[in-house]
Amino acid sequence: MSRRALIAGNWKMYGLAAALMELDALKAALAAAPATGDVAICPPATLLAQAAWKLKGAPILLGGQDCHTAGEGAHTGDLSAAMLADAGASLVIVGHSERRRDHGETDALVRAKADAALRAGLTPIVCVGETIEQRRAGQAEATVGAQIAGSLPAEGELVVAYEPVWAIGTGLTASTDEIAAMHGFIRSTLGPRAAATRILYGGSVKPQNAGEILALDEVDGALVGGASLKAADFSAIIRALK
Ligand code: PEP
Repeated sequence: MSRRALIAGNWKMYGLAAALMELDALKAALAAAPATGDVAICPPATLLAQAAWKLKGAPILLGGQDCHTAGEGAHTGDLSAAMLADAGASLVIVGHSERRRDHGETDALVRAKADAALRAGLTPIVCVGETIEQRRAGQAEATVGAQIAGSLPAEGELVVAYEPVWAIGTGLTASTDEIAAMHGFIRSTLGPRAAATRILYGGSVKPQNAGEILALDEVDGALVGGASLKAADFSAIIRALK
């Protein structure tokens, strides 16, 4: 089965309204050179509705960066998946390592968030990845395997993002051998959904390294942090799609 690539930008906690100008530039870049896969931007939730308005009719999907497990309720400060969908999102990142680190998110919580996303009609992008200590201890596959087993909903269409924690925002990238090996391992753990599930790589992807990473057989796209903030860099990564 051939899987359509996905390049998703994660703006994290960056971007005031002025940053929406980057979406105009991205729209123009994609109009000039259409992407050969899906493109998504996950801005801060405060910008979702305005971004949706700006991107009406453009080939750019919108995503949230997190959601609550419940459809609604007394959870001050949280956002439900239905709210993200209502604001224009069709995807949501869950279990990003920064949330696992900053908010103590467990695999079980991440799975519950992914389930909530599916109930609201969103496609969850479920993030997994080992720390440098786990990799050095020879525990990378065991760690990621446990995260896959614990964080993925039993059914439903989802995207997996392999993001080695030590490569996020550090400028360090996993080698193509490390990426190919881990993506192959992840696919081997996915069972009946293996052929249909997109597995993205994330961790300091930039225009300079996107070509060799995206050319790997088991890599179905990228989750891009820092380099998604500037349309020039992000569109160069999109153009590197095989
Ligand atoms: C991310 O935020 O998921 C990420 C991979 O960040 P960066 O590209 O900046 O390493």
